[in-house]
Amino acid sequence: MKICPSCKLGFENQGRQEYCSLKCHFSECENKQAPNECWPWIGQTNKAGYGFFVHNNEKHLAHRVAFTLRNQMPVPEGLMICHRCDNPPCVNPQHLFSGTPADNAHDRALKRRHWNKGGETSTNKKLSGNYVYQIKTNYLTGKITMRQIAVFFGVAESTVQRIVRGISWKNPVVQ
Ligand SMILES: [Zn+2]
Ligand SMILES: [Zn+2]
Repeated sequence: MKICPSCKLGFENQGRQEYCSLKCHFSECENKQAPNECWPWIGQTNKAGYGFFVHNNEKHLAHRVAFTLRNQMPVPEGLMICHRCDNPPCVNPQHLFSGTPADNAHDRALKRRHWNKGGETSTNKKLSGNYVYQIKTNYLTGKITMRQIAVFFGVAESTVQRIVRGISWKNPVVQ
């Protein structure tokens, strides 16, 4: 029996595990700040500046763990977790969103435009062909429900239903 330094509960120590769970391990370096501020990871960071930690001999990227813990689901296949704040070590789930690699590029372009012009940013996410494609492929894996997909993509569940049933966007154009 070992005591978890995070939750202070006893647990069966398999191998050389220091914390009872991924969540407890993560929360030790989470470094929570005010809800709207960045929460810079206080553990190790990789070359790109992203926080990571090793749990159960597996390397976990901190911002991806932050996202999955908040949403209680794995990151859907083919999606990346991006930072609204452009701050790689940040693990504030409110600053994180999921998107395709194309969305990420689009987001960066939008931000650049925002900085250049000082103009407005678009928070209105239009469903591109890429999204429709991702929604369909994720639903077909059977690992995630329509409701979860809707939360991930920030659209109504009925929109997801129409897409997977082929009522809307029958032939998405994938860029
Ligand atoms: Zn614990
Ligand atoms: Zn942030």
